[in-house]
Amino acid sequence: MAADLRKYRARRNFERTPEPAGDPGQSVSTRAQFVVQKHGARRLHYDFRLEHDGVLKSWAVPKGPSLDPRERRLAVQTEDHPIEYATFEGVIPQGEYGAGPVIVWDRGHWVPEMDPDKGFANGKLDFTLHGEKLRGRWTLVRLAPRGKEKDNWLLIKRRDREAHGDDAPELVDTLPESVLTGRSLDEVAASRDRVWHSSGDGEASPPQTPQVGRPDTVPGARPAPLPRNPTPQRATAAHDVPDGPGWFHEPKLAGLRLLARVAHGRVTLRDADDAGSRTAASALSSSALAAALAALPCDTALLDGVAVVFDRTGVSDAVLLEHALADAEARDEIVLVVFDLLHLDGWDLRGAALRARKELLRLLASHRVPGLRYGEHVEGHGASFYREACRLKLPGVVSKRADAPYRGDAKTWLVTPCRAAKDAGKRRRRSAKT
Ligand code: MN
Repeated sequence: MAADLRKYRARRNFERTPEPAGDPGQSVSTRAQFVVQKHGARRLHYDFRLEHDGVLKSWAVPKGPSLDPRERRLAVQTEDHPIEYATFEGVIPQGEYGAGPVIVWDRGHWVPEMDPDKGFANGKLDFTLHGEKLRGRWTLVRLAPRGKEKDNWLLIKRRDREAHGDDAPELVDTLPESVLTGRSLDEVAASRDRVWHSSGDGEASPPQTPQVGRPDTVPGARPAPLPRNPTPQRATAAHDVPDGPGWFHEPKLAGLRLLARVAHGRVTLRDADDAGSRTAASALSSSALAAALAALPCDTALLDGVAVVFDRTGVSDAVLLEHALADAEARDEIVLVVFDLLHLDGWDLRGAALRARKELLRLLASHRVPGLRYGEHVEGHGASFYREACRLKLPGVVSKRADAPYRGDAKTWLVTPCRAAKDAGKRRRRSAKT
C-alpha cells in the first residue's frame, strides 16, 4: 500500500496542496505513534519521540515545538527509548538520570512522507503529525556537526493550515497540561504516583496506562463480538451545566442521532432515537457519510454520532438536514459528527471511560474526509462553554463525565438547552401550527 502512494506523493508538494500525503493503509492500532513529553528535569525541556523500528527515536527540544514555521527549534537527539515509555507520566526519582516530573504533553500518530530509514540516515525527515496539539507537516533536519555536537537537529513546522504565524501565542504556553490526565507538571511532581527507574538491567516496568490506538490496552475494554442492537446512552435534561473538573462539554447539535455499525467495510446505520424507523437512516446508506465510515482504518467498529448539515456560519440546521434527507442530490452535504466509540476491532469499549473511548475515536476519525467529523469537546470550564455556545445560537450543551462508562440511561450525560434556543423553538412550533 505504501509503495502505491509513492508516485502520488512524488507529484505533489504537500506544503502547497491541502491534499493528504496519505497514510500507509494500516489499521489504527498498528500506526506508528509519536509522543511529546514535558520533562521538568534540571532544565525544563520537551522530549519529542517518534516510534520507528520497535523503538522511540528521541530528541530533547529545550523550547518545545512551535507552530510558527520561522521558529526553528533546536532538537538534540538522545538515546532511543522503549515503546512503553510513550505513555509514561510520573516522577523520575532523585539521583536517577533525568530526575524530575514528566507529563505526556501530546501524543498521536505520525506518518513519514519518505522512507524514514533514509530520512534518519541522511539527516532530513519530512512527516505529518496527527496529535491532539501538534498536527500537520513538520521537518526534522540535522545540523552540520560542529566539534563534538553531532546530534543537533532542528524541529520545524512547515507552512500549512495547521501553522500559526507572527504573534500567535506559543502552544507550550496556551496548552501546558497533559493530554493523558489534564494535569500540570507541578501536579504530577506533587502526586508522585508513578516512578520510572532507568537504572538496573534495563528492564523497566511498563506503565499501566493505555497505548495509543490500542483497544486491548484500555482499562474496562473486554473482547466481544460486534453488538447488533446496542442501547444508546441517553442524556438527562439539566438546568445548569456542571462547572467542575472531570466533565467533557460538547455543543448540542440539531440533527439525527445515529448508531453506525461498521463490519469489514459494510456500514449499517440505525436511528438511535427511534429504533423502529429505518427511513432516514436508510436514506443515508449510499451517502458520502456511509462511504467515509466504510473507509475507516479498522475491521469492526460501532460509533455513536449525529447526522447534521452545517449552515454557512457552521451551525447545525435541522431544516437544512430535512431538505438534504429528502433530496438525493443534496445528501452529500450531510456530515456525521461522531462523539463516541462503543466497539473497535473485537473489543467492547462500553465499560471503558469516556476519555479513553474518545481518544481511540479521535485517532480512528483523524483523517479529514467529507462526510465524517470527530466531535470535539472542552474539558471543564462548563459555565463559560455554555455562555459561548448560547452566544453562538447553538441549541445547548451536552456534558459528559470523562471517567464514566457507556451505559443506557445513566445520569453521566446531561443536556442543558440554551434558553434563547428553547424560546425560539417554541415560537417556531407555534408558527408552524398556525
Ligand atoms: Mn528528558
